[in-house]
Amino acid sequence: MSEEFNLIDRYFLPLCQPLAEGEVGIGDDGAVITPPSGQQLAVVTDTLVKGVHFPNETCAYDIAWKALAVNLSDLAAMGAVPGFYTLALTLPENEQAWLTEFARGLKDLGERYQVALIGGDTTRGPLTVTVTAHGWVPNRSAVLRSGARVGDLICVSGALGCAGLGLKVALNTLSENEQAWFTDDMVESCLQVLNRPQPQLDLGLALRDVASAAIDVSDGLLADLGHILEQSSKRALSTLGAELYLDALPLSEAVGQWVSKTGDWSLPLVAGDDYQLCFTLPEESWQALQQEAAKLEIEVHTVGRVIDKKGIEIKQSLDSETCVEAPWCDGLKAGYQHF
Ligand code: ADP
Ligand code: MG
Repeated sequence: MSEEFNLIDRYFLPLCQPLAEGEVGIGDDGAVITPPSGQQLAVVTDTLVKGVHFPNETCAYDIAWKALAVNLSDLAAMGAVPGFYTLALTLPENEQAWLTEFARGLKDLGERYQVALIGGDTTRGPLTVTVTAHGWVPNRSAVLRSGARVGDLICVSGALGCAGLGLKVALNTLSENEQAWFTDDMVESCLQVLNRPQPQLDLGLALRDVASAAIDVSDGLLADLGHILEQSSKRALSTLGAELYLDALPLSEAVGQWVSKTGDWSLPLVAGDDYQLCFTLPEESWQALQQEAAKLEIEVHTVGRVIDKKGIEIKQSLDSETCVEAPWCDGLKAGYQHF
């Protein structure tokens, strides 16, 4: 048996479950899956490149976790239930300890959401991980980026900026003075968000009936909210913008500390990788959503409103008459851009 097949059988075949009777997973030319009736297939894909999407020192378990989690997060933002995924893996070498940990990361997250690995491709080269995930959503009920309307509330789940702060820690770019602002627990929780993002799948399902638009926050709130506004403007055939209120942004203790010491709001506004959901909904739906989220023990926060004027205006609070100066957004407005 060639080394490649050995590797697939050893590390990836065990992840090929659960499959239903009559379905085909790893080992044939392709996978065969039976779609549930009345459901549409939602397909998402994301690539992680070493040194670009994760620091060079990131461990194999966390790379695997993140590669799958960011895809499940895209499905969450669409209101889809994840079904299965494929893995295109480019590896510099066949290293047993690394592959064991990599497979364990996939297994742990895959088991949590009952998603099976049903196929993929394995090649040699610089470490690159592409996951394609497939999910199901009842006919015509996917949550899209394009449904926001003037007057809708803008909401986010969880807290923002933790992964951005985690990245500063991971890349060792905090000065000694800055390091002293944070306890070990705060640092650990930021690294946890950076390395083990939690896809908001339960919230995604709750959004199906109430949200007008949704996106996951991968490139930073301003950039991702910008995508909602852009797509929704096209669909509404009018220009939509947003007002955001700094005082309403949900911050972890660590990010709150950073903001209060520096006055710099770039972590919650432009740093990416938190994988929370940003969504819009009509004001009258807010209470129902909040109750549903409380049942799921998920925090949701209203952080702004959709307006009929181009651009994103940042205000201190809902009552503020004027916009705040936002020097930390200049040049960063578009969040993380690859090209
Ligand atoms: P082919 O030459 O037909 O593309 P491969 O040799 O690439 O077949 O793959 C053999 C089987 O192993 C296929 O079922 C494929 O989906 C699966 N496979 C290959 N690489 C991976 C991987 N990284 N993860 C999961 N399954 C894989
Ligand atoms: Mg192949």
